[in-house]
Amino acid sequence: MKLHDMTQIMQDTARRGVGSRRWQRPVYEHFLPPCNQACPAGEDIQGWLSHAQAGAYEEAWRALVANNPMPAVHGRACYHPCESGCNRGSLDESVSIHAVERFLGDEALKNGWTFESAPSTGKKVLIVGAGPAGLSCAYHLARQGHTVEVRDAAAEPGGMMMHGIPAYRLPRTELQQEIARITAMPGVTLTCGVKVEDLAKAKVEGGFDAVFVAVGAQLANHLNVPTGDGKRLVDAVSLLDDVSEQKKPQLGRVVAVVGGGNVAMDAARTAERLGAKDVVIVFRYDKDHMEALPGEAAEAFAEGVKIRWLNVVDHFGADGITVENVTMNADGSVTPTGETTMLAADSVVMAVGQHSDLSLLATMPKITVQKNDTVAVDATTLMTGEAGIFAGGDCIGG
Ligand SMILES: Cc1cc2nc3c(=O)[nH]c(=O)nc-3n(C[C@H](O)[C@H](O)[C@H](O)COP(=O)(O)OP(=O)(O)OC[C@H]3O[C@@H](n4cnc5c(N)ncnc54)[C@H](O)[C@@H]3O)c2cc1C
Repeated sequence: MKLHDMTQIMQDTARRGVGSRRWQRPVYEHFLPPCNQACPAGEDIQGWLSHAQAGAYEEAWRALVANNPMPAVHGRACYHPCESGCNRGSLDESVSIHAVERFLGDEALKNGWTFESAPSTGKKVLIVGAGPAGLSCAYHLARQGHTVEVRDAAAEPGGMMMHGIPAYRLPRTELQQEIARITAMPGVTLTCGVKVEDLAKAKVEGGFDAVFVAVGAQLANHLNVPTGDGKRLVDAVSLLDDVSEQKKPQLGRVVAVVGGGNVAMDAARTAERLGAKDVVIVFRYDKDHMEALPGEAAEAFAEGVKIRWLNVVDHFGADGITVENVTMNADGSVTPTGETTMLAADSVVMAVGQHSDLSLLATMPKITVQKNDTVAVDATTLMTGEAGIFAGGDCIGG
């Protein structure tokens, strides 16, 4: 067989010498790896992993907290999209970033590593809300030397980390320790049990140079479900809040949870832990359109939670809940089929999303509240339409 040399001879190389020659040289360029791009906290993952690999755990932790002050929390509750983005996943399996983050977070708590604040700049910032957004903001501002006052309406800080995420996924000891490390920073003060009702007034009265609004999405959405007497209809946020406060809501033996997101999975698993024998999720879409992350759903199903796909709630009466089969349309809407089934549910838990209470912004007309009850901010600076007023976290849509 005759062999052909397939190498293209470029005009340039043909003139300079015999055969193909390359005149371009490789140049090393530092790009961020996919794990880093996928991290919602913007962590320098490859940076801290390399310290951890060398056994320099405090350096690794310090590199990690340059971006994210709560690694023990993140190492437990973050959905770790970093691992889905990891290149290694297409070779064998992703690097266990989530587990190493948790290990470093716990190592810091065990060894009492603390945060430093920079010398005071003389600037004073009000932060409304002590959830993860407000607390992270307080930390980063203190590291730059700004004086920070955090105010929260709840009796204790933490936002949805404290009042939403169930303790079996996020133990409160580590959470409280990581919060305490932030609030112990020089220049940071925290006041709980104080709801900011009028932001303009609070800013002027406190003489603040800037404000960060981090009020979250604390109000549960509701569906208009007709209910009979004596039946319990609760929303998932209130249920999880009650449980986080050590109350023991009575849901009965059979519980229906309406929704298909991560919060529905948490509510269903919590109902089981409260003693329900049968927990059924009622979800209006099919499996391919489930909103919960596959891992969250798999854990719920492994614990015995059942799900009815393509079902909507029709009525909640004395005998239980009537659900109706629906078909899904291409535009995401559903069409009722008229076929109904009765589930002998004692309680129904609504897990159909949350929205923000932004009434505190009413006195600041330059701030735009969008149709979905989120605050409009500049995508880069997170500043609202009012100079010096910034917003972040769930109240801007996450
Ligand atoms: C059940 C549940 C489970 C979740 N699980 C996970 C998970 O596993 N992993 C994950 O990454 N995310 C999870 N999330 C989402 C995550 O908790 C939120 O995205 C996050 O808490 C939002 O942080 P935030 O600081 O914006 O708001 P929040 O955490 O909601 O905090 C807002 C704070 O502002 C305070 N506040 C509100 N209004 C005022 C006011 N006017 N004056 C003073 N204070 C005020 C509130 O009391 C609250 O403490 C879950 C959410 C829920 C509901």
